[in-house]
Amino acid sequence: MSGNDHPSLSDVELRVRSLESLLVEKGLVDPAVLDVLIDTYETKVGPRNGARVVARAWTDPEYRERLLVDAGAAIASLGYRGRQGEDMRVLENTERIHNMVVCTLCSCYPWPVLGLPPVWYKSAPYRARAVRDPRGVLADFGVELPVETEVRVWDSTSELRYLVLPRRPPGTEGMCEEALASLVTRDSMIGAGLARAPEPGSPA
Ligand code: FE
Repeated sequence: MSGNDHPSLSDVELRVRSLESLLVEKGLVDPAVLDVLIDTYETKVGPRNGARVVARAWTDPEYRERLLVDAGAAIASLGYRGRQGEDMRVLENTERIHNMVVCTLCSCYPWPVLGLPPVWYKSAPYRARAVRDPRGVLADFGVELPVETEVRVWDSTSELRYLVLPRRPPGTEGMCEEALASLVTRDSMIGAGLARAPEPGSPA
C-alpha cells in the first residue's frame, strides 16, 4: 500500500479497511453479512441491554431476586441472550460491598448485556492493577468509596461472566424504568464506575 490516502483515518482504521476489502475481494466475506454483524454489536447488543436489566432489578424486587439466583434465565427473559452470555452471574453492589470485574487472562466479557469490551478492559495495566490495587483503579475512574466498603474483584473466565448490579442512586424514587436505565453506565456494570445521579429537575 502506498502512503495514507485517507489522512482522516487512523492506522488501525486503515488496516481494518484493507483487511475488509481483501476478504470481500477474495469472496471470503459477504459485505451485507458484515454490515449486519457490525450493526448488531453497535446498536442492538450493547450496554443499553444491561442497563435495562439493572433498571428492572431496581424497580421489581421479584425480578431482582431471580436475577441474583439465576442470572442467565432472568436476563434471557428480557430477550438478551447469545454468545458470551451463556453462563452469567450478577453481583449486587451494596453499601458494604462493591464488586468489580476483570478478566486477568484475556478479555472475557458478557456480550449480550454489555456489547464488546472497552479498550481499557482488555489492556494489560487494568488486568494487572484491578487485582493488585482495585481502589487505585477506582480512583482513576473518579470513584471514591468509603473505607468501610469492601471491594471485591471477580475474575471472569470463558465459563463464567459477571454483570455488576450497581446501587440505585439516591433521588431516583418514583422514576420510571426507562429513565432509570439512562442512569446506568457501562462502567457501573463492570464495577469501575457508579450509576449516574439524576439531573436536577429531570422528568420522572
Ligand atoms: Fe478472558
